[in-house]
Amino acid sequence: MSVKIPRGTQDILPGQSEKWQYIEKIAKDICRRYHYKEIRTPIFEHTELFKRSVGDTTDIVQKEMYTFEDRGERSLTLRPEGTAAVVRSFVENKMFGIPDQPVKLFYTGPMFRYERPQSGRYRQFVQFGVEAIGSEDPAIDAEVIALVMDIYKTAGLKKIKLVINSLGDAESRSAHREALINHFEPRIEEFCSDCQMRLKQNPLRILDCKKDREHELMASAPSILEYLNEVSKSYFAKVTAYLDLIGIGYTIDPKLVRGLDYYNHTAFEIMSEAEGFGAITTLCGGGRYNGLVQDLGGPESPGIGFAFSIERFIAAMEAEKIEWPVDNGLDCFVVALGDNAKDRSVSIVHELRTAGFSAERDYQDRKMKAQLKASDRQNARFTAILGEDELAENKITVKDMAQSTQDEVQLNDLVQYLKTKMEAK
Ligand code: ATP
Ligand code: MG
Repeated sequence: MSVKIPRGTQDILPGQSEKWQYIEKIAKDICRRYHYKEIRTPIFEHTELFKRSVGDTTDIVQKEMYTFEDRGERSLTLRPEGTAAVVRSFVENKMFGIPDQPVKLFYTGPMFRYERPQSGRYRQFVQFGVEAIGSEDPAIDAEVIALVMDIYKTAGLKKIKLVINSLGDAESRSAHREALINHFEPRIEEFCSDCQMRLKQNPLRILDCKKDREHELMASAPSILEYLNEVSKSYFAKVTAYLDLIGIGYTIDPKLVRGLDYYNHTAFEIMSEAEGFGAITTLCGGGRYNGLVQDLGGPESPGIGFAFSIERFIAAMEAEKIEWPVDNGLDCFVVALGDNAKDRSVSIVHELRTAGFSAERDYQDRKMKAQLKASDRQNARFTAILGEDELAENKITVKDMAQSTQDEVQLNDLVQYLKTKMEAK
């Protein structure tokens, strides 16, 4: 029996991988413009890191982590998200000491969660995220939101919706927490076992429950916005004022809470409103985490960030039927006939590649017709044909596949010829 791919993972094959590269390229380019620099952290971390930052009461820590013991009996976990590691690194590398704050970072790479696989939900998926750590200026909240909206817009997505909320500061949250407990406690038996646990541990997360979404107490639950103290209110007002200033539309949803424990003040999500996108519509989630750096042993350094998965990004692009820019990448296929010509074609493709073109030749000892077909299939922009006669004269026939024209070119001039032709395009 052959070994199959693990459940909830996927192979990204040629034809698809170009889409990934395309999105990663856009995201990195937008990060450059907003002046965010890349950070790369390990794929696994000490389990303790996620317990302390993501939080013991979250689905991620309780149900979704890939945790294992290594040969040295350390408990390690494949990272389920990116923020914890970035903040750990911020503390460990004393980035709080850098004169210019916030430190603005982006990352991309695979994340691992033991989830029930379905469309848009994988056990290994790739996130792209940013973190700005070290400033509590509401302009940074607006900047981070603008950055991710810019990425989506540059890729061509139109049917997306930005939803924001404020979770307030610690004082506001604890007042709201009391109100939530009073609201749910009398009828908590009607809720799922997870919600019953959440009631005392973290009642805010009841609002995020996927099973009890339709319960009547959900709609009537006290809104965090009514419990915001003055500081939190004015902070939120400033964030939305900045979004207005730079022309970013949003909807305020007082029921928006985020899955992770460490959020406060600004929380936001971006959804796809494209028809046929499916049940899971959240493309991106983000928010502010002012206490996290301290929780992980650093000085007070307020932060904010977001993450989206490339999987759901691609699904949104396809739901909106956005065309992927096709760059096939094959400039010239060299067709060779006869042993001498075949030998010579080895150095021709090498010269072309050295000169910066992408070039291909036949490796299956195929006849002329089959080689021409291969060149066609691979969408070569030019097909260069070398027979024994041409070789004897040090020439090669070059066909422009789109124009259906052809020229005889001196072998020594091939590189220059192709350069001139390509520039003319
Ligand atoms: P959900 O409510 O869909 O489970 P989440 O709150 O667990 O999302 P976050 O931890 O905020 O998600 O992660 C940020 C983004 O990462 C999500 O908005 C989504 O785009 C993506 N994401 C999360 N889990 C998965 C997954 N299992 N497969 C693919 N993408 C995912
Ligand atoms: Mg989840």
